[in-house]
Amino acid sequence: MRRAGQATAQILKEMVAITKPGTTTLDLDKLAERRCRELGVKPAFKGYHGFPGCVCVSVNEQVVHGIPSDRPLKAGDIVGLDFGVIVDGYYGDSAVTVPVGAITPQATKLLDVTREGLQHGIQQAVAGNRLFDISHAIQNYVEGRGFSVVREFVGHGIGRSLHEEPQVPNYGPKGKGVILKEGMVLAIEPMINAGGHAVRVESDGWTAVTVDGSLSAHFEHTVAITKDGPEILTLAG
Ligand code: MG
Ligand code: MG
Repeated sequence: MRRAGQATAQILKEMVAITKPGTTTLDLDKLAERRCRELGVKPAFKGYHGFPGCVCVSVNEQVVHGIPSDRPLKAGDIVGLDFGVIVDGYYGDSAVTVPVGAITPQATKLLDVTREGLQHGIQQAVAGNRLFDISHAIQNYVEGRGFSVVREFVGHGIGRSLHEEPQVPNYGPKGKGVILKEGMVLAIEPMINAGGHAVRVESDGWTAVTVDGSLSAHFEHTVAITKDGPEILTLAG
């Protein structure tokens, strides 16, 4: 799983590097596909329940599951890149939201709070804690800074499948849920809206957007629970 996490992080980092005004979301997908081939790894999302791309690219009010297209990015956009690979039957899964050129102070704050919310969740991924300790830490941090937590999409266990039990909501009561144990691996992934938490899925059957049109951000890491605490498997080396 460490190798899957490493390859996921490496390719995601390369996608981030070309995310600038004029890049199309399909350019990002093509880069991901080519790099998977070169590194000898398999993209985890392509064909998953029929998803057409290697990467989910979600711009501005799009929350998750955006389909790569010929849409060019422009300065001021924020773009969520959600990507995973399979190495020797094991999955990695990670997401980052990237500013394109200069963005507004409000958008900067949304990215910072979502990234930091993920870190607060990861800190609770410790053997002996309860699952919802992670959820609560994220919700408490994010709502305390005036943003809202998406309910319809959640994090998940990950291993030999992309989505395994348990589900990992980004909201919930501290002290509840299964007891976390050494060896569990979780994909923790807050999806945070600048406005209300409600989302809907567009007519393409995939792209989730905020109902109120507000910006949304998404960060994700694959995290192993070890005897030494949480180990983030999707950090770029
Ligand atoms: Mg993901
Ligand atoms: Mg995930």
